[in-house]
Amino acid sequence: MAKVKLIYSHRVVDKPILANVVLRTGVLINILEAKVNAQKGELIVSISAEGEKLKEILNLFREEGVEVQELAETLRIDWERCIACGACISPCPTGALKFKEDWSLEFEEDKCIGCRICVTTCPVKAINIP
Ligand code: SF4
Ligand code: SF4
Repeated sequence: MAKVKLIYSHRVVDKPILANVVLRTGVLINILEAKVNAQKGELIVSISAEGEKLKEILNLFREEGVEVQELAETLRIDWERCIACGACISPCPTGALKFKEDWSLEFEEDKCIGCRICVTTCPVKAINIP
């Protein structure tokens, strides 16, 4: 699984590039966040592939004129340090951090875009991104 930012310029923003890549490769691509207007589009996606298959997929996007940025590995939480204060929950832009029913912290890796906001928010430095 890889997290990738895809930046579409105005020349390609209205083309169905992502759908075509999914059709051609058969690999699942999940959109985590999307900011699109007539001039530009930015998608953060998770791609269920690694190694050569991932390279092939990223090259298909590049060939279509999409800029590709691979995002950092997702974060690690030191559960011994976490005091479940919740300070990281509301700043997280994707809802990847939340309380469980027992008020302990839950991290949903699939939603994380590696933005690092929670790393700076945590008062006990329980979160880091390698
Ligand atoms: S790095 Fe932290 S704040 Fe950013 S998306 Fe992931 S969990 Fe949320
Ligand atoms: S801010 Fe740090 S200590 Fe508080 S819930 Fe999040 S990871 Fe745990």
